[in-house]
Order: sequence, then structure tokens, then C-alpha cells
Amino acid sequence: MTEPISRENPARPSEIVGSVPVGVPPVEAADAAFGRWSRTPIQDRLRLLEAAADTLEPHLGELAVLLARETGKVLADCRGELAFSLTFLRWVASRAAAVLADAEVDDAAGRMLLLRKPFGVVAAITPWNAPIILAMLKIAPALAAGNTIVVKPSPLAPLTIDRVVRLLAPSLPVFIVHGGADVGAALVGHPLVRKVAFTGGSEAARHVLAAAATQITPTVMELGGNDAAIFLPDADLSPSAMQRLVMASFATSGQVCMAAKRLYVHSSIRERFVESYLEAASVVLRTGDPLAEGVTMGPLISAQAARRVRSFGAGLPLGRVDDGLADGYFVAPSLVLDPPPGSPLVTQEQFGPTVPMLTYSGLEEVIAQANAGELGLGASIWSADEEHAFAVARRIEAGFVFVNTHNRTGLALRAPFGGVKRSGFGREYGDEGIAEYAQTCVVHAPAAFRAGGAGLAANAYPAV
Ligand code: NAD
Repeated sequence: MTEPISRENPARPSEIVGSVPVGVPPVEAADAAFGRWSRTPIQDRLRLLEAAADTLEPHLGELAVLLARETGKVLADCRGELAFSLTFLRWVASRAAAVLADAEVDDAAGRMLLLRKPFGVVAAITPWNAPIILAMLKIAPALAAGNTIVVKPSPLAPLTIDRVVRLLAPSLPVFIVHGGADVGAALVGHPLVRKVAFTGGSEAARHVLAAAATQITPTVMELGGNDAAIFLPDADLSPSAMQRLVMASFATSGQVCMAAKRLYVHSSIRERFVESYLEAASVVLRTGDPLAEGVTMGPLISAQAARRVRSFGAGLPLGRVDDGLADGYFVAPSLVLDPPPGSPLVTQEQFGPTVPMLTYSGLEEVIAQANAGELGLGASIWSADEEHAFAVARRIEAGFVFVNTHNRTGLALRAPFGGVKRSGFGREYGDEGIAEYAQTCVVHAPAAFRAGGAGLAANAYPAV
């Protein structure tokens, strides 16, 4: 028998927070539930999603504490993630009927029905850095569209999502299975799985795509990013803007796909920028126990992650870690001034609290640097001139460009999110993120062959 997964608190690794059993993906059960759920009228499905949000709501406080203890994310961040997950669930419940409505035209060209049909069983494979919202981005639209879903969360953060799914499962066809890469691969490659939704890193993504390919299963892939934040010469360097920027890099200790991971600052403002940045960091960055009020940065997810981030080196210190937490997986936050553009800290996703700042002097140069590399998830342009910022943003190779902010503060429920280049394909959020879980099927009676129609030669192409 496989050992259960036990999860320690990354702030105090000797404390075991809980454990979950490793399982076999319950795809047959999800498939058995599909017939009834997909035939349930969409308005009834959406009412059940809305009711599920009400069921979860009273548990958010307790779930936030569990999430903070298993991930090391600070309590305010965990509360925010859980509340936002409910907001998203309710938004899908209110929006999906319009996005997924069948459409029918009946005119001189004929009669055509466009049906938005579910796929069947969806497999959702999720990472540890935002385990609730990243699962909810798949669960809510998949169920709204009439699919059933099996979630396989990361073994590094299985506990809170397990509780969430168990609270939802009595009224919704959502299932969960725990395990690592082998369980994930068994789920993705299962012949009854009809769609795969994956969020994670590129290495796992290649395996997931290969396993999906064996069954010709469609996928939506949300992968890593190496977001550039570009400060144009007229950027606002006020305390509020700079505090927003600091948290765009250091929220969740930098372990966010769309964190501001490379800062590009125009040479004319470099000195003022560094001064304002250090001042802002001293106000908003408090490293410590994730459960303590006022702390804004906790440990990394694992000892291995902390080692990896330390290997990038360190720069100007932006905070220190209490001696009492020395056993935790902490890395003190720092800003690295002008590292060589080809250094790993600049070219790779650091996924931690060590941020490079580079100086540039020309717009073409900075656009080329921002677009260098294989990743294209997010980016940001900071300027007092919104028109100019949008013009620059058009030239950035990223799925989502923020203006005068970056990371979660720049998201919107109605704005589709996802990557270009090797940061993935398919979208979450927005109408596109709902439509991702339905396939358009057509019923068509051409006018030419209806009673009284003009007809067409037996092998003719249509005129329209
Ligand atoms: P990961 O790729 O290591 O793991 C993600 C999930 O895939 C986990 O559940 C893991 O168990 C599973 N997995 C691993 N190998 C597998 C295999 N062979 N077959 C099936 N499943 C497998 O990622 P992580 O370390 O948990 O998360 C960090 C990465 O996720 C970063 O690169 C980050 O940028 C990315 N991310 C992207 C987004 C986005 O929306 N684009 C959001 C959050 C995180």
C-alpha cells in the first residue's frame, strides 16, 4: 500500500499539519455522474453552483488558517484567495448561461443550431502556490458547462483543497484524488477523460501533454512566466505605486506565476526608483510567521525551493527572517541591482523573493529585452501617459499586460488570462475561460434542400 502524503508547515517543518491518502483517480465515478449532470438544465446547474458558494462561505476562516499552515502563505493572502475563489464561483454562476447559450438562426440560407456541449470528465491538475483559486478556475466553468471533474492537487498543498472539494461534493459532481506525478499521469492518460486542464511548470507540462496525446485529449495549459515590469521615464514613483510594485513581486514570497519577476527601469529615473523602492519595501514587507497579523511574506514551499532560490544569489536586503524561524524554508527578500542580462536570475523564472532590477536607456532596447526568452505570461508598463503605455503594451509578447500595476491587483474576472509562447495556451477567467469547457457542435439544414429549396448539384460547394 502507498504511504499517505503528510504535509509539514513550511514555517516550522517539524509540525505536521495533516495527511491525505494517495488514491486511484475516480474517473469511472466521474464518468457515471456525467450523464445526469450534463442533462440537468443549465439554470439548475448554476443554481447549485451558487448554493455551493453559500455552503463554503461559513468555512472560509478555518480554511484560511489551514491553507496558511500547509503552504506558508500569509493569513491575509489565504483569506484573500479563498474569498476571491467564492467571488469567481459566483461570477461563473451568474455569467455562464449567457456564454454557453445555444444559438439558432433560421433564415434564407437555412437553419443552423449551435450547441455548446460539455466534453465529459475533465481532469484538473493543479500546483501548490494558489491551490484553491487555481482549482476553482477549472471546477466552476467545467461544472457550469455540464462536465464532471476530477481534481489532482499538488502533494505540497493537498489539505485545504481536499476540504473544499469535500464540502462541494454532496451537491456537485466534483471528485478529488491525491498523489504525485504518477497519479497525475494515470488521471491524464485515462481513456474516459475528455479534457485536461493543467496549471504548473513546463517540465510537468511536457509529461501531461504526452499523456494526453496518447488519448488525443484536448488540453488547456497555464504554465510559468518571467514577467517584465517596465518603468518608463514618466512612471509614478509615489509610495502607493511602489508599494504595489513591491507586493507584485513579493506576495506569496514571489511564488506566483504572474509576479513581477524582472524590473526594467529607465536610466533617467534609476536613482529615484531605487530610493523609492527601498522605502516602499521597508513599509510593506514583513517577513515572519504566516499566521502572525501584519506579516506579508512567509517561507517558501519547501527546503528544495529555498535552496533553488538561494542559488540565484542575493542583493540589497529588503527584510530579515526572525531567528526563531531559522528552521523554516525562509529566504530573505532582496533586490539585485543590474545583474548581467544573461544571468539565470534574469532569464529564468526565479519563483522566489530575489528580484533583479535592470537599467535601460531606449524603448526599443527594453521591448527587446522584455520579449527575450521563451515565456510570455504577463508583463507591466508603468507610465503617467496611459495612451503611450497601451501603445508599448501592444508590442509586448505576453498574454496579459498590466498598466500601472502588476500581479493580482491587475486581474479582472471579465479579462481572459493565459500565456503566449511557452507559457501555455487556452485561457482562464473571462467568457473565454468559461467557453474553454464547452465544444461547439452544429446542426444544419441548408435552405437549398428544404422543401421548395433551389437545390444544389450533388457534390457542389455552398455559395455562402
Ligand atoms: P509542477 O509542474 O511541479 O506541478 C504541477 C502539478 O502537476 C502538480 O499537481 C504535480 O503533482 C503534477 N505533475 C507533476 N508531474 C506530472 C506528470 N508527469 N503527470 C501529471 N501530473 C504531474 O508545478 P508546481 O511546482 O506545483 O507549480 C509551480 C509552477 O506553476 C510555476 O512554473 C508557475 O509559474 C506555474 N503556475 C502557472 C500559473 C498560470 O496560471 N499560468 C499559475 C500558478 C502557477
